[in-house]
Amino acid sequence: MSAFRRRHLLAVLAGASVLGLSAGGALAAPSRRQAPKSVKKPNPPSRPKLVVLDPGHGGRDPGAHGVRGTWEKNVVMTIARELQRELQAGGHYRVMLTRSSDNYVALRERVARASAAKADLFLSLHADSCDNPEVRGASVYTLSEDASDREAAALAARENRADMVGLGGKIADKPDLVAQTLVAMSQRGTVNDSRRLADTVVATFAKNGVRLLPRSHRQAGFAVLTSPEIPAALVELGYLSNAQDEKLLTVRQHQLALARALRASVDAYFGVNAATRKA
Ligand SMILES: [Zn+2]
Repeated sequence: MSAFRRRHLLAVLAGASVLGLSAGGALAAPSRRQAPKSVKKPNPPSRPKLVVLDPGHGGRDPGAHGVRGTWEKNVVMTIARELQRELQAGGHYRVMLTRSSDNYVALRERVARASAAKADLFLSLHADSCDNPEVRGASVYTLSEDASDREAAALAARENRADMVGLGGKIADKPDLVAQTLVAMSQRGTVNDSRRLADTVVATFAKNGVRLLPRSHRQAGFAVLTSPEIPAALVELGYLSNAQDEKLLTVRQHQLALARALRASVDAYFGVNAATRKA
């Protein structure tokens, strides 16, 4: 998107905000009618946050293929299910999966499902692959128009190709989608929330001994991270092209450790104290 078009979009969105049309309405001050001066209103019981988990790929789009034959779509589904159990067990969250079985769901459909459900958080789970069999470790991505590095740009291109599978090879992505989303995200503060989420996952992985790539939080134009109103990150849990990472990703104990570290990340993001979690 050109600088001019970006400025134009910002101006249009700013105008919408002045008219009270932006999603900032969720944070708007309560109306006077609802707040009598002398009576202190009790805090409403907090609604469990809705966490949308997005196991990457599925169905005719298997994702990356491991050196020992593991398919990305299967391993990320197993870990998403474990994470769903972990999150639901504490009573603080409701959890929705963007796919519940080995079926193909287009990236824009995943985004639409999370938006329609008014998710509080969106976590996309993947496992990477690259030409160098030595490369290993997890990494976390947030949306950006300019990729943080060449590898991140190539990864986003690979992950975005999932939509081409559903369209018989036709290019699915709209060129301005990422730029337009970022403008809307800036308005709502979702850009900073997404960064905080990604940094929290990286810190929690490090604390729990999950091996990470150098510069673990990176950015690129991922189509699945384009819900303007939902803080979102994409987690690559390891490299299926690395024999050790692939083995770990299929070992139950490691899958559980990853699910627990991700749950701890969500807790830290929302400020849920582990001590107050229900057993
Ligand atoms: Zn993937």
